[in-house]
Amino acid sequence: MTNILVTGGAGYIGSHACKALAAAGFTPVTFDNLVTGWQDAVKFGPFEQGDLLDRARLDEVFATYKPAAVMHFAALSQVGEAMSQPGRYWTNNVTGSLNLIEAAVAAGCLDFVFSSTCATYGEHDNVVLDEDTPQLPLNAYGASKRAIEDILVDFEAAHGLRHVIFRYFNVAGADPEGEVGEFHRPETHLVPLMLDAIDGKRAALTVFGTDYDTPDGTCIRDYVHVCDLVDAHVLGLGWLREGKGSRVFNLGTGSGFSVRQVIDHSKSVTNREVPYEIGSRRAGDCTKLVSGSVRALQELGWKPERSKLDRMIADAWRWHQNGHYEK
Ligand code: UDP
Repeated sequence: MTNILVTGGAGYIGSHACKALAAAGFTPVTFDNLVTGWQDAVKFGPFEQGDLLDRARLDEVFATYKPAAVMHFAALSQVGEAMSQPGRYWTNNVTGSLNLIEAAVAAGCLDFVFSSTCATYGEHDNVVLDEDTPQLPLNAYGASKRAIEDILVDFEAAHGLRHVIFRYFNVAGADPEGEVGEFHRPETHLVPLMLDAIDGKRAALTVFGTDYDTPDGTCIRDYVHVCDLVDAHVLGLGWLREGKGSRVFNLGTGSGFSVRQVIDHSKSVTNREVPYEIGSRRAGDCTKLVSGSVRALQELGWKPERSKLDRMIADAWRWHQNGHYEK
């Protein structure tokens, strides 16, 4: 069996990636510090608890499993928190990733799939964002991810580390079979917070700003189904293993939905009212993040067929009602 080291494999996206890797015939080896992940979510291969800041622990795991490639999901990823605690973001995301990259190179593991973000683009006045759009991040989260992209480019030049960088737009939905799903504590993301509000687990959703320069005044995002997103990673791994070289791909659908539109769709999918109130803007939020890219479709053969807003909300709702993890 071919081992793939999956950092953050106990988290939302990483756990779905482990399921997709196992289905594709790989053995996903999860490396996770369980700060935001859940051991219960590790179901598809071995688990190694550890922190990216612990280089000796990384070396040990590379020596034990001799992975053929790395999929690097582990990161702090909340825009609001990144604005108030930038030091944590730079240390965890950048220093942690640098340790991982150095450990991979030292172990001769030279295929690297990296989770980056559309937050690296920043604000671009209503244009759709393709992979060549200048990266001008507005927050420490996006800036930390851009720095890691730069590190990967330098390590390719110096050490031959090949990378596929995926810049995610907004990830939503859950495994339709209910084995894994989205479960953050605390939760900060729009769809799960909305579902919490719908079934009374919280009082009301706060809409962060209605004075943006968009048709209904709320921010616009491009939502991708988590199962489609992780399928792209398996394709990206194949791309590297076929020797096609380093490449950056946006993972978005090209369709944007405002916060108000997500509320309306949630109401119709769940057939329940969405309790919400209007609040002020959240620091660090961009007005609109929509992918203009067709590169992943054309070059990787990616087919994001589950990424319809109603389908994502329905899958998230099913998980929300039945699934959760315990510490
Ligand atoms: N949002 C909101 N209320 C919330 C959480 C999020 O209005 O309680 C908005 C947020 O301002 C953004 C969109 O929903 O415009 C998606 O936010 P999320 O945190 O899910 O993802 P992000 O875009 O930050 O990656």
